[in-house]
Amino acid sequence: MTRSIGSVLGSFRLRLVLGYALVAVLLAGVWAWSLYGPLTQWATDQQRTGLTEVAKVGALTLSQGSGTPAQRAASLARSTGLRITIIASDGTVLADSASDASAMQNHATRPEVAAALHGRVGYAVRRSATLGTQYAYVAAPATLQGVKTVFRVSEPLAEIEGIASQARGAGLALLLVALVLAAGVGWWLSLTAARPLARLQTAAETMAAGDLSSPLPSAPGELGELAQSLTTLRDTMRATIGELEAGQATLRAVLDGLQDAVFLIEADDVVLANRAAGALFHEPASGWRGTPLAAAGLPTSLEIAVRDRLGCETACSGEVGPDPEARYFRVTEVPLGPGAEGARTLVVISDVTSVRRLDQVRRDFVANASHELKTPASAIQLLADAADTAASDDDMPQALVFVGQMKDEAERLRRLVLDLLDLSRLDSVPTPGTITDVRAAATNALAAHRAAASDAGLRLALDLSAVVESDVYAAAEPTDVAVALDNLLANAIAYTAHGGVTVRLAADEHDVTVSVTDTGIGIPAEHLPRVFERFYRVDAARTRVSGGTGLGLSLVRNAAERAGGTVSIESSVGRGTTVTLRLPRTV
Ligand code: ADP
Repeated sequence: MTRSIGSVLGSFRLRLVLGYALVAVLLAGVWAWSLYGPLTQWATDQQRTGLTEVAKVGALTLSQGSGTPAQRAASLARSTGLRITIIASDGTVLADSASDASAMQNHATRPEVAAALHGRVGYAVRRSATLGTQYAYVAAPATLQGVKTVFRVSEPLAEIEGIASQARGAGLALLLVALVLAAGVGWWLSLTAARPLARLQTAAETMAAGDLSSPLPSAPGELGELAQSLTTLRDTMRATIGELEAGQATLRAVLDGLQDAVFLIEADDVVLANRAAGALFHEPASGWRGTPLAAAGLPTSLEIAVRDRLGCETACSGEVGPDPEARYFRVTEVPLGPGAEGARTLVVISDVTSVRRLDQVRRDFVANASHELKTPASAIQLLADAADTAASDDDMPQALVFVGQMKDEAERLRRLVLDLLDLSRLDSVPTPGTITDVRAAATNALAAHRAAASDAGLRLALDLSAVVESDVYAAAEPTDVAVALDNLLANAIAYTAHGGVTVRLAADEHDVTVSVTDTGIGIPAEHLPRVFERFYRVDAARTRVSGGTGLGLSLVRNAAERAGGTVSIESSVGRGTTVTLRLPRTV
């Protein structure tokens, strides 16, 4: 995506070095060029002046001396160190110090010779046809033994070229030195400039990697402004990320605080789930996020309902169940529009099993209560009709029997209604802070049932040995405790033919316990788990004889639970039953 810091700085350095080198080479080149031209020109001018002087003096010397032209040319060449040529006025070369004159061409057309033949000093530079090298020529008019001739001196340009090449060499050396110096300076400057850049780049990469707490380096000049901008960017990012995280944490806390499972489904994948989702269903080992709906472990019926969006186009809800664990769920689905991967749906699932059960319990209770009320009510009606008929037939004894039975049924009805009223009261919220003296409550309950026990020929005893000299107060409503003890004693007396009933009080640091033990018929083990249910009877016929309503033990349980206590039962068929009421103790 981005080039590495090394490559960025590398090219930066290279460009800096190359830039410096180019500038240095240009400057050195211009300087060398501006020196090289005038220097070469000066050397050429010097040579021309020197040759002209020698040509003039040589022309004078030629007219005065004696000897053949060849001798004169050789002698002058020796004394000047130059090449000397003597040319006749028709252009014939009379003598040349550097070669055989007879082999040389006619020189009349040579520019310098032509100028000298016209009485001027001529100058020319060209390649010598005779010697094959570049020469500078100067020719001057002269006379030899009274005859008009041309005296020419010439010198190879090699010397000047030497000077020029020296200048070139110096220029090149200068260029090289400038190049090396420029590269060095460029390199050093790039190193100095790159160091803060590299630090800033490292800081930017650290930020990009998510670390927004490391300090940012300072830098000089414009880089300082860049560092400042980076700091501002970092602070803004930190603040924005902080706000986003806080928002997300709040949303998460809200979601996790919900009792209902919440899923966000995109296409057919879970993209978000709250804590309750994990509690209601088994969270996949890899977490919910990204898990396909089919692999999320939802009960099949629920999975289908969620996948099919409950068959709705808009927000809607429905009930699904039971699942293999006999649970019922209320599912609400809200379409949230398209996401990156597909349509998104918010799914809220609540476990309504207990609500369902409660509904069922209520329905059952109403049906049972109606049935229980209907039985004595119908009996009273029938007995009234029968008594009426007997009275019409003047059969008063029979009529009185029916009236007596009517009274029994009316009593049964009264007890049932009283039990139902107790039940409804025990369903309400208890009054906080109420206290019951359990010793007094037990004493009163025993007093109320003493006559019934005595009628049945049973002993009735109160065992307080475990609570001698200690107060036994329970955090419970006195009416609740009275209802519980009343029902326990009524049962114990009703289901005991011989022996007796003992009420025992005990207390520890936390609880007060009241146990009612009888020596009665007992309850078969398979019925024990259900005896606290409303209207549950072990033996309907026997219960009817005993006058029980089937609500006694459920009233006891409600009274115990209302006070935050418990009730338990132990029984052995033919030997007796013990019911223990445990209530929270208070001072
Ligand atoms: P009921 O008012 O009909 O006695 P309960 O709810 O008090 O109803 O008791 C439920 C059933 O438990 C009764 O039908 C009875 O068969 C049995 N039961 C309760 N207490 C005793 C006991 N002390 N001994 C034997 N059976 C009992």
